[in-house]
Amino acid sequence: MTALLRAIQGDITTIQVGAIVNAANSSLLGGSGVDGAIHRAAGPELVHECRILGGCKVGNAKITKGYRLPAKHIIHTVGPVWRGGNNGEPELLASCYRQSILVAAANAIHTLAFPSISTGIYGYPIELAAQVAVSTVRLSIQELPAIHEVVFCCFSSDDLHVYENVLAQSGA
Ligand code: ADP
Repeated sequence: MTALLRAIQGDITTIQVGAIVNAANSSLLGGSGVDGAIHRAAGPELVHECRILGGCKVGNAKITKGYRLPAKHIIHTVGPVWRGGNNGEPELLASCYRQSILVAAANAIHTLAFPSISTGIYGYPIELAAQVAVSTVRLSIQELPAIHEVVFCCFSSDDLHVYENVLAQSGA
């Protein structure tokens, strides 16, 4: 069975999936953007669990419960800060998607939703980031039949159009 990949526009904190992915910072203790929205919606118990995780390296991913979210779990990953593109940014961003999917599969999670990692405060150009996101997810799920559906949750309609184009070009 081929997993379904699709893009939607919306607030990732409202999506009912096995896990939503958080574009966290390496402290895992909350921040701005989607990270702040997830912590607010999940409630204060989330930061307690995050504290015992001891942070997370760029390109890596760690899982917590979802607490007050409709999603059962949160997979926290730390994207790279964009520094022009020649400082390992594409590899690190790809690693975020791949590690998040591996963590999902290891925890018997079948459906997950990603925000557009690194494309907010971290400044990664959306067109380049969407290509990394879609190609890495497609490749990673090939070996993982446990993953049934991956949603790219775009905050803006502009981002949604970018993802839809990339998905169409890559054969979704
Ligand atoms: P980063 O630090 O990785 O760049 P940001 O949170 O600043 O993370 O931005 C990542 C993406 O998440 C941006 O496209 C931003 O518009 C989007 N975003 C912010 N809030 C939400 C939300 N509630 N749901 C989905 N996406 C969101």
